[in-house]
Amino acid sequence: MSDSTDHEQSASVPPADFKDLERWDREVVWHAFTQMAEYEPLIFESGLGCELTTSDGRVLLDGVSSLWCNVHGHRHPTIDAAIHEQLGKVAHVTNLGASNSTTIRLAKRLVDVAPENLNHVFFASDGASAIEVALKMAFQYYRQISPAQPQRTKYISLTRAYHGDTVGTISVGGMHSFYGMFKPLMFDIVSAPSPDCYRMPPGIETEEDAKNYYLGQLEKVLQENHNEVAALVIEPIVQGAAGMITQPQGYLAGVRELTQKYNVLMIADEVAVGFGRTGKLFACEHENVAPDFMCLGKGLTGGYMPMSATLATTEIWNAFLGEHRETKMMFHGHTYGGNPLAAAAAIATLDVFEAEDTLAKMQPTIARLTERLQQIAEHPHVGDVRQRGLMAGIELVADKESKTNFDWTEKRGRRICEHATSNGVWLRPLGDVIVIMPPLVISLEQIDQLCDAIESGIQNICPA
Ligand SMILES: *Cc1c(COP(=O)(O)O)cnc(C)c1O
Repeated sequence: MSDSTDHEQSASVPPADFKDLERWDREVVWHAFTQMAEYEPLIFESGLGCELTTSDGRVLLDGVSSLWCNVHGHRHPTIDAAIHEQLGKVAHVTNLGASNSTTIRLAKRLVDVAPENLNHVFFASDGASAIEVALKMAFQYYRQISPAQPQRTKYISLTRAYHGDTVGTISVGGMHSFYGMFKPLMFDIVSAPSPDCYRMPPGIETEEDAKNYYLGQLEKVLQENHNEVAALVIEPIVQGAAGMITQPQGYLAGVRELTQKYNVLMIADEVAVGFGRTGKLFACEHENVAPDFMCLGKGLTGGYMPMSATLATTEIWNAFLGEHRETKMMFHGHTYGGNPLAAAAAIATLDVFEAEDTLAKMQPTIARLTERLQQIAEHPHVGDVRQRGLMAGIELVADKESKTNFDWTEKRGRRICEHATSNGVWLRPLGDVIVIMPPLVISLEQIDQLCDAIESGIQNICPA
């Protein structure tokens, strides 16, 4: 079921119009984050467990969980059945002033498994929207408490943060190489340096010192700005899109203490790290952190349907209550927010975590990945390996001693992933960081297959 290699039902003969599909895929479909002038079609037809089959019959191990969202494998019978069952009831009704039983049940389930005090759930469809909702809720909250604090119009985020691609989320994001051109559209933020345990600040040698250094930097930022800040937004434990940058132990708990000390709301962006990726259901659990907002996306529906959620505390919720004429309601909504088909997939995803004891079963797989990464780290062009649970990054460097990067135009990371894909393992890099983010049900053999493909890719593209 989870790691089945049974592909009898998958397409092995390309569709009759395969040549047309390839052409339309190049010329009609505008792919995200893809240079269409250079795009080589990779067209999937079906999936099962941790594998995907392309339209021309190639079977690939899904090493990136179809962009970080698949959790229990493709075509999981429990999730498939839940969606079928919901289809027998209704596919969609709005949640603007109305509801449906499936979405209500999901909201209650999320509150039950989330860190304490996160008792209210606002649904949207994408991770970025969940962050936008939290940003707006924090902003509106300070206008509606008494006494109101309308001067709180700023946000704090980390320098290499990624929270999505909408204008609000790129404003709190730090990937300036992508988004610099949109600067005139973005609002100002205050940033604190992203903790980095590979390229540590001068004079800092241990993880513990790094933690204290980065918390000190954040505290300075808070001291100067706290009265104008509505919220701090952070990816807990791992900054994913930044290149799988792992935070020093204790950093997240320290951030929580500081936000409480300076009275700033904390938004935990669990869109990538949530739903078991780091070895716990939510990354905040590693350091017993209960934020004011928690944003979920990607794995929420097991990687089946677009759905995201913003969980908020009762303190936040209460500031939005009042009579209609007080206009205190949350001024935000998405047409498909709380979609019942997606909610059915999300409930089934949580059911499978329980029924299959996924988090416990991952432990040997996590250990095997650690072992394999240690071997890979020996390679002269591997500068760093970083792992939390089944989220990992391998950073390639031109020179290990000085930690100098390769010239980015050489596309080393991309070429290694292309090499792996031609050897049966689908991967997508982040620059020169090879990303490992498989479905949580990946088997030990498949971990080996994945790491073998990466090793061979590194040997080929970055010979010792
Ligand atoms: C992917 C991601 C988002 C954005 O989610 P979308 O569904 O792509 O809008 C936000 N935050 C983090 C940490 C992510 O990894």
